[in-house]
Amino acid sequence: MKHWTDIQLPIPEWLEVWAARVPEIFPDKNQRMALAIDLARTNLQYGGGPFGAAVFNQHTGELIAPGVNWVVPGKSSLLHAEVMALALAEQTLGSYELGSHGAFELVTSVEPCCQCLGVLMWTGITSLVCGACAEDAEAVGFNEGPRSLNWVQELAQRGISVTREMMRPQSIMVLQSYAGEIYNCRTRT
Ligand SMILES: [Zn+2]
Repeated sequence: MKHWTDIQLPIPEWLEVWAARVPEIFPDKNQRMALAIDLARTNLQYGGGPFGAAVFNQHTGELIAPGVNWVVPGKSSLLHAEVMALALAEQTLGSYELGSHGAFELVTSVEPCCQCLGVLMWTGITSLVCGACAEDAEAVGFNEGPRSLNWVQELAQRGISVTREMMRPQSIMVLQSYAGEIYNCRTRT
């Protein structure tokens, strides 16, 4: 017999330790992006993908929840950084409608793929801030899926402002260090 109800989304244990050493408030958007990139970089060290994200209170800068790409270790294609951050934020605030609790911002080290674009539209966030571009992720082998060419305008129509290419070079460095590891593994074998 399968025990479906015993299954929970696997969240990496290192996030607890990480959370204990970061501030609670990030007033500046650059600080928020630096945190998302730090999550991506740290996640690589624990066997996750080179992507990080976090949900903040847009106005106070309070960190609500972090997220990382944990697809491979967690054995779930749901576990993209943006989805994890949004899911943890919703559980933290006790509602899937983040918009009913205030204005919230999703900061992600790389532009969202088609899955994450779909999820974030239903959460009620009001701001999306992206680091590296989709083509940067695709350049190292990731697939962003069939995204609308007008995704920025479509989010704007739903009340979600989009900021792109914030600290893009720093985020690309994490993507490239991931690609370098893959390359080194291949050349070692
Ligand atoms: Zn995604």
